[in-house]
Amino acid sequence: MKSILLIRYSALGDVVLATSLLAPLRAKYPQVRIEWVVDAAYATLLEGVVDRVIPFSRKDGASRAAVLHDVKGRFDLAIDLQNKVWSVRVARAAAPKRLRFVRRTPLQALGSLFGRDTIFNEVPTTTLYARAAQLDEAGPLKLVVSEDARRRAAQLMGEGRWIAVAPGAAWETKRWAPERFGQVAAALRSEGFRVALLGGPMDGPLLEAVRKTCTVDADLTAESMNVLAAALARTELLVGNDSGLVHVALAVGSKPLALFGPTSLTRWGPRAPGAAVSLGLPCSPCSNHGSHGCPLGHHDCLEKLDVATVLAAARQLLG
Ligand code: SF4
Repeated sequence: MKSILLIRYSALGDVVLATSLLAPLRAKYPQVRIEWVVDAAYATLLEGVVDRVIPFSRKDGASRAAVLHDVKGRFDLAIDLQNKVWSVRVARAAAPKRLRFVRRTPLQALGSLFGRDTIFNEVPTTTLYARAAQLDEAGPLKLVVSEDARRRAAQLMGEGRWIAVAPGAAWETKRWAPERFGQVAAALRSEGFRVALLGGPMDGPLLEAVRKTCTVDADLTAESMNVLAAALARTELLVGNDSGLVHVALAVGSKPLALFGPTSLTRWGPRAPGAAVSLGLPCSPCSNHGSHGCPLGHHDCLEKLDVATVLAAARQLLG
């Protein structure tokens, strides 16, 4: 095996989890050249971990066509972890041998179309990726922070012991109250840590609530994904929801503390000791990716997760 094309272009967490295939692939196929098709938003994150990154924009037809042209017939094996109509086309164009991550059986896919989604709670995503790639087991997550990003993070943060908080998550039910993130950060700040705030444009009100509850020493909410990764490499702990950033933290050598409510800790939790907190309610997990509202109307899985519990878990990780 001389060349492999990896296809996983979204979302952030899944892309980072897919880096767990790189070490076992290189162990199984020494000297192999690995290229990766990824959404342009995450492309720079993958530089340094594969031989070449092939970025594209999903909404741009010309960009998609350029990828098909680029990969055509150049690979021995294509591993499609995205498994969408377009990713299947890319894999077919790229290589005679193809492996694919199948998320749902046809019956499960039908159920999901009619609002009866199967909740996956048995096997970690990284294990499923490894099985799809015909590997014995997944390796560690790995991202390489670029020198430019490292310099920018150093400029913004300076010296000191840092913790970070990221109150965002794509779906409402996955979000712990932002004021509580602020309270955790304020408590750790009073113990000598400096606080970095991480997030993106769609997290606006959540970030504002943290700013109102805690003094923020480095506001990184306008920075690129690369700089966020570099900032995480400088922090001792990231407290966040079930979101992509907790996987980024683990992949750059920081310690994440992920707060889990409606989604599966087994399936999506960071694979490190003490890296997640969940109340483990009987109704949890109730969805695969979160939802706009709690099906039971109370959202106890995160409402009843108090600041003291999260703070204790954070102090444990900080030693
Ligand atoms: S049903 Fe349970 S796990 Fe799901 S959102 Fe409500 S409280 Fe959380």
